Amino acid sequence: MPAAFVTHADCLKHEMGAHHPERPARLTAIEDQLIASGVGQHLTRFDAPLATDEQLARVHPLDYVRAIRDAAPRSGTIHLDPDTAMNPFSLQAALRAAGAAVLAVDLVLQKKFSSAFCAVRPPGHHACRARPMGFCIFNNVAVAARHALEQHGLERVAIIDFDVHHGNGTEDIFEGDEKVLMASIFQHPFYPYSGTDNPADNMFNVPLAAGSGGRELREAVTQVWLPALEEFRPELVIFSAGFDAHAEDDMAMLRFADTDYRWVTEQLKAVAERHAQGRMVSMLEGGYALGALGRSAIQHIKVMVGLT
Ligand SMILES: [Zn+2]
Repeated sequence: MPAAFVTHADCLKHEMGAHHPERPARLTAIEDQLIASGVGQHLTRFDAPLATDEQLARVHPLDYVRAIRDAAPRSGTIHLDPDTAMNPFSLQAALRAAGAAVLAVDLVLQKKFSSAFCAVRPPGHHACRARPMGFCIFNNVAVAARHALEQHGLERVAIIDFDVHHGNGTEDIFEGDEKVLMASIFQHPFYPYSGTDNPADNMFNVPLAAGSGGRELREAVTQVWLPALEEFRPELVIFSAGFDAHAEDDMAMLRFADTDYRWVTEQLKAVAERHAQGRMVSMLEGGYALGALGRSAIQHIKVMVGLT
């Protein structure tokens, strides 16, 4: 079955300042590598729809959604937190990013595609139930998971977060939720300084020291993630796909290589094939070194498509 690629031009118009690392060129870098690698011709492209208030309200209080709508400026830039800003296009971009999550889940659960990658921004995994944070406004993977559970009636969804930062927003939303298993690795101690303090039973967090690379990733996945996932038997695998643990990415100090993203995706694809009919949805999170971001995303997508 072919794979879907969900994105939208509105996601290129969201800008948070001239020197902000979370910038439109990140999406262009992925598009360039899709062409250069030839992988793009194996994907069916979709424009992301706007998420509805109903879809967002499964994750965020409606008051929060309304506050974000009200905060959106008509001109200039406003700051939601020291790292997270909105320009006049940011609301549309954030609604497209969350809407991409909904469409990707629909495409995969309606058996039109076995997997879907969403090249969207703003990212989402730091967005808590009622708080924007760390470049994130709405929690896109959480919107995807709740849509799969509540609209499609799934019982068990796994969220796999390999971004270098802990997905504290996703943990805030799902801690203690027996229908969701979250497996993550992240540099620690490091922003947002969470994920190690007595996590709930459905959280499988593996903090990694600065300087850790592919070997430590393999240990975390084989010793912690895979046993938990085998027991949980997810019906859908959702990736919080951040590529900022790459050695070339100056945002943090982990040392992953392009091929580590292929390896970790292969491990999760095998889980999805055993338990979830191969169904995978992936949402872009971080990744700020443009070359490494593009190449690593291609490694990840190639495995989902079945090109390796
Ligand atoms: Zn990150």
